[in-house]
Amino acid sequence: MITFEEAIKSVLAKARPLPPEPVRIEEAVGRVLAEDVRSGVEMPPFDKSAVDGWALRAADLARGRELRRRPGLIQAGEGFTGALKAGECVKIMTGAPAPAGADAVMMVEFSSEKGGAVNFSRGIKRGENIASRGEDIKKGQVVLRRGAVIGPQHIGVLAAAGRSHVRTGALPSAALVNTGGEIVTPGARRPKFGIYNSNGPMLSALLRRDGVIAAPEIVRDEPRKLRAALARALRSDIVIISGGVSMGDYDLVPGILKSLGVKKVFHNVRVRPGKPMFFGVKGRRLVFGVPGNPLANFLAYLAYIGPAIRKLAGRPDHGPDFLDGTCSVKFDPRTPRRAMMLSRLESRPAHRLSPVDHSGSADILALAGARAFAAVPEGGSVKKGGRTKFLTWR
Ligand code: AMP
Ligand code: MG
Repeated sequence: MITFEEAIKSVLAKARPLPPEPVRIEEAVGRVLAEDVRSGVEMPPFDKSAVDGWALRAADLARGRELRRRPGLIQAGEGFTGALKAGECVKIMTGAPAPAGADAVMMVEFSSEKGGAVNFSRGIKRGENIASRGEDIKKGQVVLRRGAVIGPQHIGVLAAAGRSHVRTGALPSAALVNTGGEIVTPGARRPKFGIYNSNGPMLSALLRRDGVIAAPEIVRDEPRKLRAALARALRSDIVIISGGVSMGDYDLVPGILKSLGVKKVFHNVRVRPGKPMFFGVKGRRLVFGVPGNPLANFLAYLAYIGPAIRKLAGRPDHGPDFLDGTCSVKFDPRTPRRAMMLSRLESRPAHRLSPVDHSGSADILALAGARAFAAVPEGGSVKKGGRTKFLTWR
């Protein structure tokens, strides 16, 4: 049986980035840039007033404080015909193009107007309050580099550069199958021995954070139905199946996957929770069979599924990220497997881990109060104050 680390490595080795695709910039957040983005325009695209005030020639104010007002006003978005002559000024608004002949704009606060003349309370330097054409961004300049994970702060740059679309890593499609005759959709009528589907909505929410949309489908452990559901699921890049991968008489998933042409990469991992974990491939498609326990599902997403999806999407930061923490008490899981112990995480003092007690069906509530899985070495323990690695989530 392989170790947890070997399992993670072998999943990532099979996850190869999908071919990039163009997307609308509004939909690009969270994706990886697959091209260097060059600006199609200069920024600003023309000499532009940075304030509301008066466009003028700085040299004129070195000689006196009064200038003739040219009638009219230059508004943002509108040009000015003709050129400003010596001794003249013209009213201009923020964002409007500076007229030919002007080399500075005085803020309206330093002026008073009477009749056809404007009086200024101070002088000005050439270029003051004019943003000159191309001073922020040159045409053809690279504004964002390939490989950047696009955040909301980048969308403004893409838009300013004139881009409506951008090439990014593609997001995989995913299918989510929850097996078990006891599993019922939350909100539906629950038979006496039924339990609500927690894995499905939880995995769906985890997927959504990585930009992947998939609705859970519940299937009974009935060979024909399960086979049909899994055959359909195998049209997606990522197939996630919960339940039905252990040693029970109704754990039919591995056998059916095999008959559908899925090649097993591993089945069973020396980790707790989630030992009966199945991972296989069919061509480029990745198939994850996670034991039904909700904690195992959450951990499987953090350790294998999420990182694989992000790698397919071309993200250099795909993870999983094991951080360093300190144990607030002795962590003593008493298992020969690598224990990933559900923990609370305090940021002060930094990365202090405390175990969250749980058992059986209270797992899901314990998970809601936790923020990390602390890794305890196989067959060992970590003493109070000892260092350990952990996985956390946002
Ligand atoms: P299995 O891996 O199918 O043997 O399931 C292991 C345990 O997890 C059983 O107690 C199941 O009832 C439970 N379980 C399986 N699937 C789900 C699910 N989708 N939501 C909540 N619990 C589940
Ligand atoms: Mg089951």
